[in-house]
Amino acid sequence: MGGKVVILGSVNVDLLVSTPRLPLAGETVSGSSLTRQLGGKGANQAVGAARAGAHCILLAAVGKDEDGASMIAALAGHGVDVERVRATSSATGCALVATSPHDNQIIHIAGANSDVDAALAAEVDLGPADVCLAQMETPAPATAVLFRRARTLGAFTILNAAPASTGARELLPLCDLLIVNEGELALLAGSDVGPMLDDNGLLSSRTRLGLEHAQILLVTLGADGLAIISENKVQRIAGRPAKVIDTTGAGDCFCGYLAAGLARGDTIERAAAEANAAASIAVQSFGAAASIPDRATVLQCLG
Ligand code: ATP
Repeated sequence: MGGKVVILGSVNVDLLVSTPRLPLAGETVSGSSLTRQLGGKGANQAVGAARAGAHCILLAAVGKDEDGASMIAALAGHGVDVERVRATSSATGCALVATSPHDNQIIHIAGANSDVDAALAAEVDLGPADVCLAQMETPAPATAVLFRRARTLGAFTILNAAPASTGARELLPLCDLLIVNEGELALLAGSDVGPMLDDNGLLSSRTRLGLEHAQILLVTLGADGLAIISENKVQRIAGRPAKVIDTTGAGDCFCGYLAAGLARGDTIERAAAEANAAASIAVQSFGAAASIPDRATVLQCLG
């Protein structure tokens, strides 16, 4: 039997506004629709891991408000274990996302996500078969506590250093696997994106990050799939053909599926191939959590 996936991360209510064009400073424009949906990297990745068939425990914080209750209900509806999602006196995290056909603007209020603390990370039961996954939308000290405990207890740790933040550098020594997209890698490694993406560029970025021999770097490359970079080898998995509708949350779907595969005992190559297929399906419909496919659909796609 495989292990469980423990995700420490953010939960937001996403307020999505569609408008023919974004307003200039001080201007008012008419929008065409307003939708509220589950968001936050932690929540999306937890839905990904649960859809991939893992027992996924989410360590997170929401407000004692209507948004908090409805986001917890949505997570539970997707099969995420929400026993350790804490309700605090702050308001539930919120992202106001205005989208036009050409561009988007996002205002994020961290709210209760800032209340995720070491105590939440210190209490969860962990064993050698388990996989811990965290991102950069919740305080890094809580992630550090979770990862240190995980390593002591033999569990595997994954840092998805998103959104791009130099604060991720302090967590690098604590992760077994680092997942970044091209922009996040450029920021952390201090390199230019273009030349960095051939094999030599990826290997030297890895060196610049100061990763140790046993640590693995995985770079997602959008439509081009991904690269797995060990100390002296780059393995690429090509992107799968997709009729793209909405790429929001593709990276989160990828991370959730990858964590579930590793918790199941798959090799990183096998888990990444499945995550790549899952994310290529997710980009073909609207939404973040809502677009993540179930595992049967992903296995069918892989043939
Ligand atoms: P986002 O911020 O949009 O969630 P990201 O920037 O974190 O995504 P990407 O590298 O863009 O991450 O995408 C993650 C994974 O999603 C890719 O490795 C790939 O598997 C899949 N993917 C993304 N875009 C496409 C696409 N156009 N066609 C097929 N697969 C895609």
